[in-house]
Amino acid sequence: MMKIEREQIEELLQDAEKNNYAIPHFNHSDFWDMSAIAEAAQEKDTPVFIACLPKVIEAIGIEKLGAVAQITMEQSKTPIIYHLDHCHSVELCLKAIDNGYNSVMIDAADLPLEENIKAVKTVVDYAHARNVHVEAEIGKIKSAGDEGYTPEAAFAGIEEAKQLVDETGVDALAVSIGSEHGFYQHAPKLDYDLLEKIHAHVQVPLVLHGGSGIPEDDVRKAINGGIRKVNVGTHIRYTYVKSVGEAIQEKGPATHTADIMEVAKKNVKEVLYDWMRICSNK
Ligand SMILES: [Zn+2]
Repeated sequence: MMKIEREQIEELLQDAEKNNYAIPHFNHSDFWDMSAIAEAAQEKDTPVFIACLPKVIEAIGIEKLGAVAQITMEQSKTPIIYHLDHCHSVELCLKAIDNGYNSVMIDAADLPLEENIKAVKTVVDYAHARNVHVEAEIGKIKSAGDEGYTPEAAFAGIEEAKQLVDETGVDALAVSIGSEHGFYQHAPKLDYDLLEKIHAHVQVPLVLHGGSGIPEDDVRKAINGGIRKVNVGTHIRYTYVKSVGEAIQEKGPATHTADIMEVAKKNVKEVLYDWMRICSNK
């Protein structure tokens, strides 16, 4: 398949909006799990985002990652989008675009709104000129349970989200409705009411971060409320690392790496299939 461009990513997300499902986003950390995700996507004929945190770029190198992702996307019969996740640096976003990433997330949500808008706009201008998709995040949408959360403050956040989208032309927006990164101490309480309000006010696809550990029913409710991309990282990484450890315990450290990784890939794929099923909302 040819490199997926921004218009096709928009079409995929529009189809998700029309048919009420979400496109899964799976974080990878090396080339073994990248191929596990690509294989699972094709086996289930499900378009996916393969996402890469800046930490992975630091470990492997952006040129190498971009090149391998490029070949992975070309060889896939199912659309695969290579995505830079939670990038706080405008400069690294631009570099990722130059290295073949077809979607980037500029995460400037910690900055005041004006500065967030400025950073997102810089990335959007560069990305759209090169047919690359951009996701942003806004931190002003308070989550239920946050200190100082009031419906009024949440609503002010919605107005700011709308302003960020309108002024930057960003393609997707990560919203804070009570999910968190990593595993949860307690089951999260998602604010579906707030989600529906954002969905009604903001005309771009909404992204749920911190998918790992959110019960299936709650993910489905979030999809029904307008979530069109669900990010899963921790669940994959945990399964991966645990499987490698167990396979070494079982087979011994003299086993070839490829045979250990085969076990890890198989277990990771089971997790991916399950998230694809949940995201399909069928
Ligand atoms: Zn995230």
